[in-house]
Formats: sequence, C-alpha cells, structure tokens
Amino acid sequence: MADQLMKLAHHPLTGGLVRALGLPSPTPLARASGGYTARPFADRTVLLGGAPGGFATTEGRRALQGGGAAVLEALPTEEGRAVDGVLFDATGLASPADARALHDFFHPVVRRLARNARVLVLASLPEEAGAPAAAAIARGVEGFVRSLGKEVGRRGVTANLAYVARGAEVRLEGPVRFFCGVHSTYVSGQAVRVTPAVRAPEAVPLHAALAGKVALVTGAARGIGAATAERLAQEGARVVCLDVPALREALGATAKAVGGESLALDVTSPDAPARLVAALKERHGGVDVVVHNAGITRDRTLAKMTSQEWEQVLAVNLAAILAADEALLGQGALRDGGRLVYLSSISGVAGNFGQANYAATKAALIGYVAALAPRLASRGICANAVAPGFIETAMVAKMPLLTREVGRRLNALSQGGQPRDVAELVTFLSTPGAFGLTGNTVRVCGQGLIGA
Ligand code: NAD
Repeated sequence: MADQLMKLAHHPLTGGLVRALGLPSPTPLARASGGYTARPFADRTVLLGGAPGGFATTEGRRALQGGGAAVLEALPTEEGRAVDGVLFDATGLASPADARALHDFFHPVVRRLARNARVLVLASLPEEAGAPAAAAIARGVEGFVRSLGKEVGRRGVTANLAYVARGAEVRLEGPVRFFCGVHSTYVSGQAVRVTPAVRAPEAVPLHAALAGKVALVTGAARGIGAATAERLAQEGARVVCLDVPALREALGATAKAVGGESLALDVTSPDAPARLVAALKERHGGVDVVVHNAGITRDRTLAKMTSQEWEQVLAVNLAAILAADEALLGQGALRDGGRLVYLSSISGVAGNFGQANYAATKAALIGYVAALAPRLASRGICANAVAPGFIETAMVAKMPLLTREVGRRLNALSQGGQPRDVAELVTFLSTPGAFGLTGNTVRVCGQGLIGA
C-alpha cells in the first residue's frame, strides 16, 4: 500500500510544499532485509549511561560490546556528532531525587540522536523495587520512556523499556540486540519484562537463531503470516505454513518461497487440532515454534452485529487457538524449550469502534498469555502476544481512504508499519535468545497514539 505523503515529503520538487503546509514529513525507516548477524552493532556508536546503584549496566555493556558496538560512556565532545543508540540503566533509581538522573542524562542526548537511532532503558520491576516509593519511581520510568518515544519518533528513533527482574540481567543479550538493533524498526514505546521465570536454553545462537527448529505459522498464505514464515525461515527454521484450503495456491507459493511446506487446513474445523498434531508429529516429530497468526474481522457496531458475525470472529481468533493449544500441549507436540506467539492487536489493548467481537478476541489473547506463561515456564516454553497497530496489509487496504490516511499517521513514527516489521518482533520472540520474555504483550505499532 503506497504511502503517498511519504513519497511527496521526500521528493525534491514537493518536499518543501509538504513542510510549508505543516504536513507530517515522516522519516524513511531503516529496515533489515537479512537475518541476524553475530555483530549487529559493528558500525554503531552506542552511548551507555546509568544511575548509581544500578544492577544491569555490566550486562548491558557486555551485550553491546559482544554485538560489536563502539560503546561511549559520555556524549562525544564534538558538537553535532550523533549517536546511533542509547542504553540507560535506571535500575538504581529509588527516589524522586534519583529520578533527576533521567533528565540530566537525556536532556543533552535527545538532540544528538541519529535518524533511526535506538533508545533502550532498563528499570527495576516495580514489585521488586522494595518500598512503595521505589516502586513508584521504577514505574515512572515507563512514562518517561513513552514520552521520549513520542518526541523522537519523527526522526525514526524508537524508545523502549525493559523492566529487569533481579537475577535476570544475565538474560539481557537477546533483548538488547533486538531493541538496540535494526530489526526492531516499528516497535516503540513498549515496556517488556525480563524475568528468570523460564529455564535457560542449552544454547543461544546469535545468528541462524532457529537452525534445526520447526515452526508452524497459521494464516501464512499472505500478509503478516507470509512475512513471518519468510523471516523465521531466514533464521534457519523449517516452516510449516498453514492456511484455508481456498487459498491453497497462495499458501503453496509462500511455502515454496521459504523452502517450507504447506498444510491446507481450516483452523475452525472440528478435526483441525488432531490433524495439526498428526501432521507435525508425523513429519517432524513435533514443533518448536507456533505462531497463531490466522485471524479475521467482521466489523460492525454492536447494535448491528449479527450473532453469526460474533461467532465467526470468536471461532477463528480465539476458540480455534485454544483448541489447537490444548492438543499441541496435551499430546506433547510442542517440544520443551518451545515458543508460542499469538497475534493480538491494538484493538485488543484499547478497544475499537465497530470491533467489539474482534477486540474481545484480541484482548482475550493478552489475558491468555499472562495465564499460560507461568504454567509452561518449567518446560522452558515462552508464550507471548504481539499486538500490531496500523500495518500495510490487505486488511487495512479495505479501509476508506480518509480512515486509512488518519490511521497511518496516528503514531509516533507518522507512518504505517510493514508486515515484515511484525514478523521481526514475532521472530525475536521465537528465538532461544528471548528466554527472558514470557507472558508479555508487545505492540508493534510505531507507538500508536491509540491505546498508548
Ligand atoms: P490477512 O487477512 O491478510 O491474513 C490472515 C490470514 O489468516 C489469511 O491468509 C486467512 O486466509 C487466514 N485465515 C483466516 N481464517 C482462517 C482459518 N479459519 N483457518 C486458517 N487460516 C485462516 O491478515 P493480516 O493483516 O496479515 O493479519 C494477520 C494477523 O494479525 C491477524 O490475526 C490479525 O488480526 C492481526 N492484526 C493485523 C493488523 C493489520 O494492521 N494488518 C493489525 C492488528 C492485528
């Protein structure tokens, strides 16, 4: 879906006019086309800061240096020299006086962030912070980071927060690589929790992160599902691509393009869970990554919504997922150390006009991962949800022009995301390196103003 305003804003003949009219002039976002590399920060300068008493600086530095970053402990003295990233350890903040460190550190840094720079802040888990005052300060960091994201988004800069449980700082390498790297393009204003809940994997490969793994992606014939299949395959996964029999041809094309295989199956059919388990066990002995991506909309205001429209959405977006999981987990098809990722939506976070059915299912998935994650932790399995915002797919192409144009701009980055951007977050959560993250819902919405 072409973003005409973006084209006009960056055309030499029309760019001046766009600015004169006061229209947004979004920054073209940097995106990766390939997979992870061993040294993702090889050509990057990252500023490392921290408040006294923090417990995550050492591991943060280790993750940056391991990825090849030139780590600076202070802003470069040459006026105008920009930094490509910032990692700030705020885990030592415990009082309002301490919180001043946020202003002192970031005030001079904001103007020195390069286009498409990455900011990651680390904070203590509020419930582990000790006194209520310290918990307040830890939680306050989230408001700071989200505001910062809104101020720097126009330049393509993202700002995210990782709450780090004590003892989980050794799990920061994967999150630092993702949130400070080029693969997190459209993820901004998010707060994730890094905890010791899930037992560590035996190996954490930093590239070809899914070599030897089998992944199932539902709804893989097109859109976000197809992009996810492609991205998982780039990391070395063998991908089983599932979609409805009516889209057999497109499904086959995705499977062929990613060197995977197709499974034409309607997830709502009564025998779908059994067929799914049988196919995965027979072909591969099991599965390591399951991405529940298939979803539908049947938008109508509640006053006009038929019970059939309600039922259809509940069946595909929720009941089929619960039934599939029951079979996959109950019959041992999902291997230990596995990863479950669920496609929620910002509609599930904030609700949306005309989407009572859809939002109910997408919010249900947020509750589901929170409840499911602790039950699977001892098996080394992580369960997380991904909530996309405005992503340029067939789903949004159906919107009226004006709604689409408004939707596209209502985020800190002032533009829509690409299916690949969602696939990047799903892929990160599918890797062994994401073992610190479970039970999270992470939005990929350019820090959408709706539900923010
Ligand atoms: P899409 O309509 O392009 O693709 C969805 C795929 O799911 C289709 O190929 C479809 O055939 C498949 N599917 C539907 N019902 C199925 C069934 N019963 N059995 C098997 N497959 C079935 O949608 P998309 O935009 O790529 O969205 C993918 C997911 O992301 C959905 O869950 C959607 O709700 C979610 N999402 C999308 C956006 C967005 O902006 N596009 C925003 C928020 C959430």
